[in-house]
Amino acid sequence: SLTIGIVGLPNVGKSTMFNALTKNDVLAANYPFATIEPNVGVVGVPDARLGKLAEVFDSQRVLPATVDFVDIAGIVRGASEGEGLGNKFLANIRESDAICQVIRAFKDDNVVHVDGKISPKDDIETINTELILADLQTIEKVLPRLEKEARVKKDKQPEVKAVQEAKAILEEGRTLFAAGIRQGTEQAAPLHDLHLLTTKPFIYVFNVDEDELTDESFKQEQRELIAPAEAVFLNAKLESDLAELDEDEALELLQTVGQDEPGLATLARVGFDTLGLQTYLTAGPKEARAWTIKKGATAPEAAGVIHTDFQKGFIKAEIISFDDLMATGSVAEARAKGKARMEGKDYVMQDGDVVEFRFNV
Ligand code: GDP
Repeated sequence: SLTIGIVGLPNVGKSTMFNALTKNDVLAANYPFATIEPNVGVVGVPDARLGKLAEVFDSQRVLPATVDFVDIAGIVRGASEGEGLGNKFLANIRESDAICQVIRAFKDDNVVHVDGKISPKDDIETINTELILADLQTIEKVLPRLEKEARVKKDKQPEVKAVQEAKAILEEGRTLFAAGIRQGTEQAAPLHDLHLLTTKPFIYVFNVDEDELTDESFKQEQRELIAPAEAVFLNAKLESDLAELDEDEALELLQTVGQDEPGLATLARVGFDTLGLQTYLTAGPKEARAWTIKKGATAPEAAGVIHTDFQKGFIKAEIISFDDLMATGSVAEARAKGKARMEGKDYVMQDGDVVEFRFNV
């Protein structure tokens, strides 16, 4: 499955946040999560619709979609020089599908900032610079050979041109993602084999003081630093406290700081979206469940997520939108009111589709 790598300068609160991610009782109470490896946290994507579906279908349990977060430990500055930990750090980022940078905005004289001052802007630049330098090195290693090849093999020319263009962007100090060359898109296809780091989408987590959680003008300033990437604001220590509480207690604590859900819940949702994923829903007496698909997936592709046989033998999908199902109160009523649609193999799945597949075995 797709993963999000957590990076950041030392002492910004990465470990605190990651520990909260892997022991979050608020999520764990309702959503399954598991720690596969010590540095991987599997987090449920909160979805209030599942609880409501479970009521309608009298389901025994609720299974949300999940997002995998990987804690990428290791030094950052100098990583591109490729020494020891630096190499491992970059290899870990290379394997991630999105990068989540934790940035320190909280003030605490007892916690030393590696650069001696709190400046989200500088922290963002430091990480960007390392990733840009690492990509430039990757390119400089292969470009002379590619250029030589392209002189005899004309079909190599588009690739060389793409690599040269990428190099020029990086030399200006810009990430490829910011320049519109994004992993998984056509523009990035000629660069695919180079596994460049800055083609990956970024999410920024600002680890802020509690009073800043509701400070809209402060948050707007931070958002402007990283636009069009997504920003999540949380207090890592508070998240760690929330993780120790049951759901009601956690909600109470959240209210005292003007929040309606844990920052980690927001992060899971933003992460899911940044990875280009969406869900569709199924429900029955056993479980109400959100299944993960790529945005734009067709009905047979969605069926394939449950079982490859569902995709192979796909006939039709009976779909009721979640809102229609809630308005009518049951599948039978939704059918009677003409709210259940039969969709064929070209149907593109929509958010909130409640689905039952028809297939041949
Ligand atoms: P890492 O090096 O990025 O993994 O940072 P840690 O999670 O180890 O945190 C470094 C120090 O900052 C620890 O002493 C944490 O207790 C403290 N810390 C983390 N988050 C916060 C926060 O939100 N507020 C305050 N005041 N301290 C924090």
